[in-house]
Amino acid sequence: MTEVLVYVDHVDGAVRKPTLELLTLARRIGDPVAVHLGPGVDAAAPVLAEHGAVRVLTADAAEFADYLVVPKVDALKAAYDAVQPAAVLLPSSVECKEIGARLAVRIGSGIITDAVDVEAGDDGPVTTQAVFAAAFTTRSRVSRGTPVITVKPNSAAPETAPVESAVEQLTIGFGESAAGTKVVGRTPRESTGRPELTEAAIVVSGGRGVNGAENFRIIEELADSLGAAVGASRAAVDAGWYPHSHQVGQTGKTVSPQLYIAAGISGAIQHRAGMQTSKTIVAVNKDNEAPIFDLVDYGVVGDLFAVVPQLTGEVKARKG
Ligand SMILES: Cc1cc2nc3c(=O)[nH]c(=O)nc-3n(C[C@H](O)[C@H](O)[C@H](O)COP(=O)(O)OP(=O)(O)OC[C@H]3O[C@@H](n4cnc5c(N)ncnc54)[C@H](O)[C@@H]3O)c2cc1C
Repeated sequence: MTEVLVYVDHVDGAVRKPTLELLTLARRIGDPVAVHLGPGVDAAAPVLAEHGAVRVLTADAAEFADYLVVPKVDALKAAYDAVQPAAVLLPSSVECKEIGARLAVRIGSGIITDAVDVEAGDDGPVTTQAVFAAAFTTRSRVSRGTPVITVKPNSAAPETAPVESAVEQLTIGFGESAAGTKVVGRTPRESTGRPELTEAAIVVSGGRGVNGAENFRIIEELADSLGAAVGASRAAVDAGWYPHSHQVGQTGKTVSPQLYIAAGISGAIQHRAGMQTSKTIVAVNKDNEAPIFDLVDYGVVGDLFAVVPQLTGEVKARKG
């Protein structure tokens, strides 16, 4: 069977969930070969094998930490040359989309970004994308070279498929441009204990209807009862009620969780652009004509200050 390169997104060897989703999708089109760069391969390798990676190609070098993007492109190109894969899959993060795009240029291939599904096709992998604020679904395949595909988080449920896996050192010759953009400082973000917005399986978002920074506590309490991330509309973040890093939408983050709960959000097209591919959408809005109700699976017409705390209480009661 042909092999498929899967770029491993990890923090010191702790493999992030989108990579496990990629391994699951990769198995549909070949044998996954994981590319793990930086420290922590001892911790990562068993997890990657558990999810079907037949080989783990690894390299650790100061370049990966000290410089942005290009050293990782050099490494992925080395892995590509070594494996001659049927496809290269990466998570759809900002960094990985740049890595994927640069790799595609180097190997003379096409790239598909933000896929939400990948299947085997007669002429190579076929992807599904949700485009134009998710108003259309397109199916595409790369028509030249080895497909490079970035896949949005939460596009597949990670499945285990344990295999015997070998860890192999990757030899990389870093090019001149590898040292082009140097990292000059790192500041750890204060942890909220909540999942990362773009990866979360559940997102609870608040909008202008939340009516004040202090009231976002209601949104956070529901999120915490569900183990969810907190999102916000642009109106809410522009008002200073929640940090900009939590904005969902066209000019914010794109999320695609299993469950998206929108409280006090009207459903403007620019907000929809960032959440419309969510699997199940629930809205709480006191205006029964709010456009958000056009796309919901479940809608509650009511005052969020009455509805959301009740929902939180019910979730907590059911959890026991
Ligand atoms: C170029 C551009 C890019 C943009 N990018 C984004 C983006 O990335 N993300 C984004 O979100 N927006 C974006 N916007 C802004 C977007 O057009 C809307 O203005 C914004 O999404 C509105 O936010 P909202 O729904 O919270 O507020 P509103 O439109 O004011 O809606 C508030 C809703 O809350 C309801 N409500 C009020 N009180 C309560 C209550 N007590 N209980 C229940 N419901 C209540 C109201 O009925 C109303 O439907 C962008 C706009 C432009 C022009």
